[in-house]
Amino acid sequence: MAKKQFKTESKKLLDMMINSIYTHKEIFLRELISNASDAIDKLYFRSLTDPSVTLSKGDYEIRIIVDEAARTLEIRDNGCGMTKEELESNLGTIARSGSFDFKNEGGPKENADKIDIIGQFGVGFYSAFMVSDRIAVTSRAYGSDEAYRWQSEGVDGYSVEKAEKDGFGTSVVLKLRPDTDDERYSEFLDEYRIKGLVKKYSDYIRYPIRMEVTKSRRREGSPDDKPEYEEYKEDETLNRMIPIWKREKSEVTDEEYNNFYKEKFRDYDDPVRVIRQKTEGVSDYIALLFIPARAPYGYYGRDFEKGLQLYSSGVLIMDKCKELLPDYFSFVKGLVDSSDLSLNISREMLQHDRQLKMIAKALEKKISDELIKMQENDRDKYKEFFREFGTQIKYGVYSDFGAHKDVLKDLMIFRTSMGNEMTTLKEYVSRMKDGQTKIYFAVGDSREQAELLPQVEAVTAKGFEVLYLTEEVDEFALMMLNNYEGKEFLNVSSDELDIASDEEKESLKAENEAAKEMLDFMKEAIGDDISGVRFTNSLKDHPACLSSEGALSSTMERTLGKMPGQENAGIRAEKVLEINSAHPIAGKIRELYDSDKEKLKKYAKILYANARLISGLTITNPSEIGELVTSLMVGD
Ligand code: ADP
Repeated sequence: MAKKQFKTESKKLLDMMINSIYTHKEIFLRELISNASDAIDKLYFRSLTDPSVTLSKGDYEIRIIVDEAARTLEIRDNGCGMTKEELESNLGTIARSGSFDFKNEGGPKENADKIDIIGQFGVGFYSAFMVSDRIAVTSRAYGSDEAYRWQSEGVDGYSVEKAEKDGFGTSVVLKLRPDTDDERYSEFLDEYRIKGLVKKYSDYIRYPIRMEVTKSRRREGSPDDKPEYEEYKEDETLNRMIPIWKREKSEVTDEEYNNFYKEKFRDYDDPVRVIRQKTEGVSDYIALLFIPARAPYGYYGRDFEKGLQLYSSGVLIMDKCKELLPDYFSFVKGLVDSSDLSLNISREMLQHDRQLKMIAKALEKKISDELIKMQENDRDKYKEFFREFGTQIKYGVYSDFGAHKDVLKDLMIFRTSMGNEMTTLKEYVSRMKDGQTKIYFAVGDSREQAELLPQVEAVTAKGFEVLYLTEEVDEFALMMLNNYEGKEFLNVSSDELDIASDEEKESLKAENEAAKEMLDFMKEAIGDDISGVRFTNSLKDHPACLSSEGALSSTMERTLGKMPGQENAGIRAEKVLEINSAHPIAGKIRELYDSDKEKLKKYAKILYANARLISGLTITNPSEIGELVTSLMVGD
């Protein structure tokens, strides 16, 4: 029979998988057991709502069968099984539902190279190739008389053929690889090893995981003084079957939580935080939530689906209940088990379910409390968390017209001119100087760029702290907040920056009035791009800078200009070109105004282009500026 090829992505992945020096080969067992348990869950759930399925909970089991002579390990379940088509589509490709995206579009770029590809998504079934060189999956869908066998020896492809199988469900038979000098695959035929693995990873599985184990007993009739022993086989249930979330928190080790998380939510990293909430009274529920260490592939992309698993008294009724999580906490993984929910609740009903809304509200509060705790007690961990999910939090502040800002404002951390540590707004305010009324911020693509802004120099020279906003969403988030504890935010590049003393202001005013004619002449030369030219005395070393008038800052201009369809919409911040009155350039332009007005025009244009570049804006007339600079270089 002709072999079918895996889809290309699957092939690549499979190759990586098989050849990976992944140290935890043992996880294949938890993956297969988990698939078996999911398959039983599906059938069990159907039995609760569909009278034609006449099975009760006690009928289900997952069975592990070892055949040392044949060197095979079998995992068998009596769950929903798969049809021929399902075998092909479920096991023939990994790239189902587009979850597998090598290009990582829309993901956080800076981390792209750090992400361990294998670790980023559920490889589930395929992990079995780490320990076996041939896999046969025989399956019969519940309600069908036909069984099929899917077989594969790895990357070259797979085949599907008709097969015989008693009863419904699925059997996965692994032919273990031969032992090598470095790897002993036969360990997975060892009873104790298997028992240990089930305890470690699959103890909470709700259905019995059974295996025939070897026991020893005294041979009947053997003499007391010379007892003889014989071996016999007996079925043993290897798991305790209590869902981990139903066990007392103090009883469960961190490792157990971590293993559960990794298995259930397909992550290879431990979560940075485990949150458990149990309430009784108005609504009865237990929530077990995890904050992942890394944003999953495609997290910031459009196809990402948020949600928590929803259980009703231990039975899974929905895999991704999105009503339980607000968008800004969409990175949270986990589950909610409530005894108050009806089993056949539909999606539409869920949206309006009061119970669910109350749970969602309580979870939101719990998650933000836990994040604050982490921020206060373990800043390094929090920084890691924020690097992964901070953007989402900031979008949360900005979204829905600021409806969630009170929950989120203390979760944001920013870079600052005060040392290398990131700071919360609360910390900033607690450090504010006497008489400081504003929270200053500067915007740039990076900390370094923001730091170099002429106005930052001016503000920090007065002893004020400046927040560096390096992400596009930052400024929007602060604008939405408007103030923190009554202190307004102020962009240091804004014309409202007012850090000069009364005396300084007076003298500047006089200076600007005296030079009015010249400054207007320069504005004329530059054109309508700016609303004026004036002297400033707040710059230290820089010759000139741009400041914005009105609400729209230069960065926002940049951001809005980058939005699709807006490139040429001509959204412009009102800008003023400010010239450092203490810089030699001030003397130079005065001199030119008297001696060579044509040359002053060139100077004005170049100063403006310079100031734009420092602010991170592009210039619209690069060739003109290029020519002007050269003409001055050659002395025209
Ligand atoms: P995942 O479990 O993450 O979806 P897997 O590669 O482990 O990925 O499995 C792919 C699919 O194959 C599953 O989603 C399920 O539909 C199907 N499947 C795997 N194992 C079984 C099984 N024992 N019984 C029924 N279906 C199964």
